Amino acid sequence: MGNIQEGTWKWNLSWRRTLFEWEKEDTMKLQGILDNVKITPGRPDKWQWIHSSDGLYSTKMAYWKLTKERTGSKEAKMSKRIWNPMLPSKIAAFNWRVILDRIPTKANLHKRGIIKDIEEAKCGICEEYKDASHLFLNCKISKWIWKACSRWWGTTVALKEDCCNTFDQFGNGIKDPHIAEGWDCIWNTVIWTVWMARNRKIFQDTEINVGGRHWKAVRYMGC
Ligand SMILES: [Zn+2]
Repeated sequence: MGNIQEGTWKWNLSWRRTLFEWEKEDTMKLQGILDNVKITPGRPDKWQWIHSSDGLYSTKMAYWKLTKERTGSKEAKMSKRIWNPMLPSKIAAFNWRVILDRIPTKANLHKRGIIKDIEEAKCGICEEYKDASHLFLNCKISKWIWKACSRWWGTTVALKEDCCNTFDQFGNGIKDPHIAEGWDCIWNTVIWTVWMARNRKIFQDTEINVGGRHWKAVRYMGC
């Protein structure tokens, strides 16, 4: 881990296995952070929140720090939109990870070396490479669902290429904030419902039924 050399603490990180490429980059970042940490022998360790003058953590300060960093960015605008009061927080939290491409799709597991064989990273339904855009937008089941939704809403939605841009497409640019919020909510509901429907299909072999409870909500919201 490290030791004192000529009165100064030197970090010496060693790992139990060879690192993946993407881990090497993280390790360098970690090393950069640790280089700024000064270890003082004989002094007990304590937690300190570096973003406040008294060193104490508070949710308010953490929120301030995060929002300050992201103010004005596309991500910040989307973050504001996705935490929609009409949505249960578990759906907003999941969909935020979808936008950031942080959900454990087979493609992501393959990139991280957890799935070794590319053949195993294919969609369980149509054999395409299963990244988030495939899962939620381009898989034949997802396409069919979006098409059904468009029909209910009386619109023709030409979906953008990935989930982040598709969310940007919904609600963005609509002047009436209530209508914009409604469209954001529709996007969120469809994404969540696609996820649940796919899981039921893959793990329980349950056919997707657009007459179910969630779908009625989607249909109603578009009216
Ligand atoms: Zn598929």
